[in-house]
Amino acid sequence: MQWRKIFSEERGNVTVLVAFATAVLIGMAALAVDVGIMFYNKACLVKAVDAAVLAGAQELPLSPAQAVSQAEYYATRNGVGSNEVSFSVSCDKKTITGTAQNTVELFFARVFGFNTQDLTATSKARVSPVTSYTGIVPFGIEDQNYSLGQIVTLKQGSCSESISGWFGALRLGGNGADNYRSNIKYGYQAPIAVGDVLQVEPGNMSGPTSQGIAHRIDGCNHSPGCSISSYKEGCPRIVIAPIGYNNGRSGANGRFTVTGFAAFIITEYTGSGNNNTVRGAFIRYVIPSNDAEDGLDVEDFGLYSARLTQ
Ligand SMILES: [Zn+2]
Repeated sequence: MQWRKIFSEERGNVTVLVAFATAVLIGMAALAVDVGIMFYNKACLVKAVDAAVLAGAQELPLSPAQAVSQAEYYATRNGVGSNEVSFSVSCDKKTITGTAQNTVELFFARVFGFNTQDLTATSKARVSPVTSYTGIVPFGIEDQNYSLGQIVTLKQGSCSESISGWFGALRLGGNGADNYRSNIKYGYQAPIAVGDVLQVEPGNMSGPTSQGIAHRIDGCNHSPGCSISSYKEGCPRIVIAPIGYNNGRSGANGRFTVTGFAAFIITEYTGSGNNNTVRGAFIRYVIPSNDAEDGLDVEDFGLYSARLTQ
């Protein structure tokens, strides 16, 4: 009898213990669910504000007001209401900051008196002049100030060259017409940086220049076709070219020192034979940071990359 009594009491103790442990475990599991919901919502909020400031930065430094409205548009598209987020642009017009706040409803934490939790997220995106770029066209553009929309000769025709025998072409990654044409069509597929000294391409290269440029013009399938008044980001009519100085020589001793990068939208390519000329309109342009490196201490030729700084 006594044995049974002891056994029975012990079983009672175990039952209490199990009940208690179960309650604790359920409580912890319930809190884990709430914590999970909070983390998920926070991650969504951060992602939305990151995307919004990066989208807004595309309009910097030229149009701060448009940068803010663009950021608001992207935030809304990612499920963050305009009353939950605010954006501001720095005085130098190169940084856009977004701060979002929303409130999540909790389920199990209500037992402990927590009904809701406020979440906040702050993101910053900054544009900086590009210091290195993969994908330049093989045209060396003279280092000078260009104004928005200015028509610039990217590759000269015969008799108009400032350095006898150099028409503005560059030799990148090897010689030969095929290589040069491919560099026009697709951009040179290795990084070129400020300070690099490039070899110039002697000769007019008329045929491969026209063919390469025609490929880019044909590649614009936007309607209406991209022009200075309206263009789509990433269109092949937009080219990125190095800015810099020629050492005053053509031929095998001709060198071009890169001081920066600029974007142009091709406006015309005319002439055949020795008169082949390519012109483009100077634009301000923001590219994704994975194509480029950037830095604040280089000359600003209107080509920027945007990256998150917070
Ligand atoms: Zn286009």
